[in-house]
Amino acid sequence: MGVTAASIGANTFAFFTRNPRGGKAKALDPADVASLRELMTREGFGRLVAHAPYTMNLCSTKASVVDFARRAMADDLERLESLPGNYYNFHPGSHVGQGVERGIELICEGLDQVLGVGQSTTVLLETMAGKGSEVGRTFEELERIIDGCAKGELLGVCLDTCHVWDGGYDIRGRLEDVLDEFDHVIGLERLKALHLNDSKNACGSRKDRHEKIGRGALGMESFEAIVTNERLVGLPMILETPNELDGYATEISLLRKIAREAA
Ligand code: FE
Ligand code: FE
Ligand code: ZN
Repeated sequence: MGVTAASIGANTFAFFTRNPRGGKAKALDPADVASLRELMTREGFGRLVAHAPYTMNLCSTKASVVDFARRAMADDLERLESLPGNYYNFHPGSHVGQGVERGIELICEGLDQVLGVGQSTTVLLETMAGKGSEVGRTFEELERIIDGCAKGELLGVCLDTCHVWDGGYDIRGRLEDVLDEFDHVIGLERLKALHLNDSKNACGSRKDRHEKIGRGALGMESFEAIVTNERLVGLPMILETPNELDGYATEISLLRKIAREAA
């Protein structure tokens, strides 16, 4: 993965900690881990942003689903300690009709059980589009999770540009206001990473359909403003656009060029 990332001009990457649909994870090969650490140093990689399986739901109505989510997260965090100091991003969960209150309660309960003292990984809550009963569409909901969690100091936020837009935050027209709002509600020091995706739908649509950079409702100008924003510069930015490898290489070089010219 690291070699592929370097070959397309990236200096960070995301990876699923296990099959994204769930299931049992493979044991880590110490030789693989060692060569990845070596490559990251050599290529000057920033922090990595691991992604939890997206079937994981800490606030399901089914005890077995909640139990799986807690176990998978605990296990992922344990394995990530072989690559210390990186990020682990997850979708807070879907409350499936129980209501946001109960959802947040269950998410906090799960995190309190799973987060460990001395853990070097920062766990990131991803901003969600608000599709179905997703928790974490608003900055307020994310803040309530961080606040309600006894080990909140181990938590941060990963802002997905498609999700916040679909969730109703107009980052095309008022990026600075949205960042002010994030700062006011959560605190920008909690913002640790970005997922860069354009959106196939309108602001507030709550759809969560990613589009290639510049080809969607956000458009190229939004991404120019994002990658050159002084409050966002230096954060790991991960592409989750519908692309093959060459498409990612093109997007990376385009975004790098914009950032370089602004610097
Ligand atoms: Fe995600
Ligand atoms: Fe995302
Ligand atoms: Zn998405």
